[in-house]
Amino acid sequence: MNDRVTGIVIRETEVKESDAIITVYTADHGQLSLYARGLRKVTSRNAYACQLFDCSEFLLDYNPGKDVQLLKSAVLKREYMGIRADYDRLALASVVIEIISQLPDDSLYDLLETTLEKLDQDAEAFTAFSVFVVLILNILGISPVVDECVLCGNTKGIETISIADGGFICHECNKSVHLRPLDVDFLRKFRIINKASFEVYDRLASSGLNDYQLSALLVEFLCTHSGMRLRSWRAVEGAVK
Ligand SMILES: [Zn+2]
Repeated sequence: MNDRVTGIVIRETEVKESDAIITVYTADHGQLSLYARGLRKVTSRNAYACQLFDCSEFLLDYNPGKDVQLLKSAVLKREYMGIRADYDRLALASVVIEIISQLPDDSLYDLLETTLEKLDQDAEAFTAFSVFVVLILNILGISPVVDECVLCGNTKGIETISIADGGFICHECNKSVHLRPLDVDFLRKFRIINKASFEVYDRLASSGLNDYQLSALLVEFLCTHSGMRLRSWRAVEGAVK
């Protein structure tokens, strides 16, 4: 039987001779591994639709009993040229894919597609990336506490953020935690980004959220509380420093 599935290519692994196994994130089946014969030949008709980050329609024989499905053909639906052409965007998109491919939840196609669209088109790549991480923290149930001090519940005198404790720390509690006080404006931005979503995304534009430091703190938060390791984040750090 022929099945048509739409998905985004999130990984390519070279196998013998000119073949490849591509991993595709689909709306209907989550992550699928597709065996693509001759994909790396210059004459391959499917190669154009099977590159990393391509959103394509794949024709295959779907066999739920098999780990790898055989790809028959692929047609490109959308390519993210803005991501390919810009080192920062490419690095951030790679982190998005690394995060999403590590999650047991296989139903995040819409989130992946929306995030890549924003990373591709939007002027504020770090804002888009931070919103993505905030939504992942939310899905995992490990969002930072940003409405009060995580230790005592005080809403006044917020002074810093403790990643280990899970959120805002007030002046009184920081006398025993001993973290460097953070700029009030940065604390305000950290609170705003943690309440953000792509539904209200347009209202976030030009709010000063397009900030590497915000993204970096959110990534550190994610890694600390989920146990995830993100090798691809190093490329983002390298680009900024
Ligand atoms: Zn406190």
